[in-house]
Amino acid sequence: LGIETGWKFDNSYARLPEKLYSKQSPVPVSSPELAVLNEKLAALLGLNADALRSEEGVAALGGNRVPEGAEPLAQAYAGHQFGHFTMLGDGRAILLGEQITSSGERLDVQLKGAGRTAFSRGGDGRAALGPMLREYIISEGMHGLGIPTTRSLAVVTTGEPVYRETELPGAILTRIAASHIRVGTFQYTSAWGTSDELRTLVDYALQRHYPDAVHTGDNASLTLLREVMKRQAALIAKWQLVGFIHGVMNTDNMAISGETIDYGPCAFMDTYDLETVFSSIDRQGRYAYGNQPYIAAWNLARLAEALVPVLHDDEEQAVKMAEDEIRQFTGMFYSHWLAGMRAKLGLFGEEPEDESLAKDLLELMQKNKADFTNTFRALTLGRPEDTGLTCDAEFAQWQERWQARRSRQQESGEASLRLMKASNPAVIPRNNRVEEALEAAVEREDYSVMEKLLSALANPYAYSPEQEEYAKLPEGSAQPYRTFCGT
Ligand code: AMP
Ligand code: MG
Ligand code: MG
Repeated sequence: LGIETGWKFDNSYARLPEKLYSKQSPVPVSSPELAVLNEKLAALLGLNADALRSEEGVAALGGNRVPEGAEPLAQAYAGHQFGHFTMLGDGRAILLGEQITSSGERLDVQLKGAGRTAFSRGGDGRAALGPMLREYIISEGMHGLGIPTTRSLAVVTTGEPVYRETELPGAILTRIAASHIRVGTFQYTSAWGTSDELRTLVDYALQRHYPDAVHTGDNASLTLLREVMKRQAALIAKWQLVGFIHGVMNTDNMAISGETIDYGPCAFMDTYDLETVFSSIDRQGRYAYGNQPYIAAWNLARLAEALVPVLHDDEEQAVKMAEDEIRQFTGMFYSHWLAGMRAKLGLFGEEPEDESLAKDLLELMQKNKADFTNTFRALTLGRPEDTGLTCDAEFAQWQERWQARRSRQQESGEASLRLMKASNPAVIPRNNRVEEALEAAVEREDYSVMEKLLSALANPYAYSPEQEEYAKLPEGSAQPYRTFCGT
């Protein structure tokens, strides 16, 4: 069956120093049943969807049968959680191995919720169905938006309950990632490994994620730090530009590959507000929307710190190198962000005024409690009356400046509109829509609501009529233009 399904494992992580992982098979479950399968992703991985649906296929996705060639393990890592350093590791996830796709790509196949490991501490090693489906929806939504992310191949129910505040159905998510190497993996190796082990991890990560950069300098650690910073700058800018709030940007949840990873209390911002926090555990607002770029810089500084032992023989020199590097992040982020804002406004080229044009709009949005996604959608559709800003006299002035800026560019109005459509999603995984899909699936085993949502999220820039309903704000939510206009 190995051949039929198309599993083609190589296990380079298992060949790394033993300190980096603990060999561990998934713990079998009583009755695995397939809840959702991502057929397109399966094809991309070179896997046969029908084989995955078969009894043996589901047994593999449920952790009851280790596919041929896999060498399952739990990865060791540490991390700063809300600022506090601690030892962590995969407490409920098992890396089956790396699937080599037909195009030769190497992708991690991980079962999340696959049972206790050496790193479980007090945890049960399991996951509940709702949160695994939520990760599936939002990660696939992020992929649709063109944002680097881990992906979701399948969710299998286990037939076993998990106990949280209440009893919930258990499930396992099959997560696909460029890798699961985190900032925390480096922190762990730096704190508890030898410099040889740290160097091995640096070379491994560089080879795996930045093969083109391997020969750009003679200092592998510095090259890695720089490349990770570049990808993170681009990634966080993308988050900001669609209003994605990760919610738990601990250093163990920041991937070296530059993919978004670990969908816990994440959510998309509705009303534009820099202070938006959705996560109930984030009481200080550490991971608020407007803080994300600063937290990314903070996390990268922890990566730089972890690399100090291998950056330079002289520690003082190493620290200086790390600091000089990290100082670049804000600028790197900002230029990605500004380029993205220009695109959202349909602007080509660069004018000094662009920055204030972007910021003044956001300020108007904050002041008028405008919906982030729908404001840009309304501008894209040429319906300024739907922005929620028309009651504000300053918005008319802003629009004049914006139109003047657009008329100064060589590119046609159609080209500008095309750019806006490609940069402003008509649909995002809105909180109420995600909840509705989860409720239908978990409470009534009705997956049709989720399937429909997923298909809208697969092409968020389509501006198709079927997507209209997903742009509606939840009933009873104060639509700002109604509240303020009183018409
Ligand atoms: P997270 O907040 O999802 O990034 O997880 C933080 C840490 O807690 C990681 O080391 C996880 O593996 C671990 N963890 C989360 N849930 C469980 C669980 N149910 N059982 C064991 N470990 C867990
Ligand atoms: Mg995590
Ligand atoms: Mg997690």
